[in-house]
Amino acid sequence: MTDVTIKQVRAYTVRGGGADYHDQSEGHWIDGQISTPMSKYPEYRMNRRSFGLNVLGTLVVEVEASDGTVGFAVTTAGEIGAFIVERHLARFLEGRKITEIEKMWDQMFNATLFYGRKGIVINTISGVDLALWDLLGKVRGEPVHELLGGAVRDELQFYATGARPDLARDMGFIGGKMPLAHGPAEGNEGLTRNLEHLAEMRSRVGDDFWLMYDCWMSLDVNYATRLAQGASELGLKWIEEALPPDDYWGYAELKRNVPKGMLVNTGEHEATRWGFRLLMEMDCCDVIQPDVGWCGGVTELIKISALADAHNKLVVPHGSSVYSYHFVITRHNSPFAEFLMMAPKADEVVPMFHPLLLDEPVPSHGRMSVSALDKPGFGVRLNPECELSRPYTH
Ligand SMILES: [Mg+2]
Repeated sequence: MTDVTIKQVRAYTVRGGGADYHDQSEGHWIDGQISTPMSKYPEYRMNRRSFGLNVLGTLVVEVEASDGTVGFAVTTAGEIGAFIVERHLARFLEGRKITEIEKMWDQMFNATLFYGRKGIVINTISGVDLALWDLLGKVRGEPVHELLGGAVRDELQFYATGARPDLARDMGFIGGKMPLAHGPAEGNEGLTRNLEHLAEMRSRVGDDFWLMYDCWMSLDVNYATRLAQGASELGLKWIEEALPPDDYWGYAELKRNVPKGMLVNTGEHEATRWGFRLLMEMDCCDVIQPDVGWCGGVTELIKISALADAHNKLVVPHGSSVYSYHFVITRHNSPFAEFLMMAPKADEVVPMFHPLLLDEPVPSHGRMSVSALDKPGFGVRLNPECELSRPYTH
């Protein structure tokens, strides 16, 4: 096994669903009116595709080993990511032993520092890293969660993200996280409507079901504080990503401002151990939500998670399906996971990265047994019916 080396790295793009889960067609809840940093412009307020949320598309990275085994992973990076993989990152992988993941990560990160650090470059490195873990698991015949130290519990427990927490409760999830519809530009009237919607959902789900608001970077400290205060009596469990990701000072203030017991969560658009170090040392939040496909991959998430553990912070990764599940089940400070409701009306459980992956496990009654993850690598296959294109080669 130690002789197995990487023969070739290939990068593809694909449109329509998949890792770029915002790339959906008309009428999907995820493209409804959701408060965003662009909502201050009325012409970009009614849906997120209007300002280009789906512009990137999915990046598929394949890593082929000398024994013919192919590992792969998907993330959000599209054609730009494909260029970075083929023309820049492939050189740090090809010819190397498949076990040298730490060294390959370090070279990819340091070689891209002059134009990387966060955003699409780190998304791309994450995709390559996940493909390397998939390959290592496949060659060894072990699921990634076993490579990471093994499961610490028998099953995963999920909350659901989507427009219908009331339906999610009936499906057995432990909580429901809704997108916030109205932002500061819609004034007090919008704030009232946000609180009325929460009250309506609270009346439908009862007192014991978790309800959360995802604010997608769209508020300011004052608005977020007023929302949190108003939502307190309605039992809002957490306020998520209330502020732009660079406003660490605002997060620290918001965390001091929210009613006792309400959690402040953030981090899905944060990257690397250094970004999360800032969030933790400045005491910006209670729960960090790295996306394993965007924060630097599993190799980096291990470090982020260890740092969080030492700061008594929970790590509840953002979305990302199997790539998160294999990690969450191995960590004590990740007690539950997120499930994105990708059915257009959020009224049924469908695979998160549908239609791109085959064998993608989904929760049943809000839970998933570790046995659903007991396949080599991340345990998923690319759907041959999805049309991949390879815009660059090397
Ligand atoms: Mg979020």
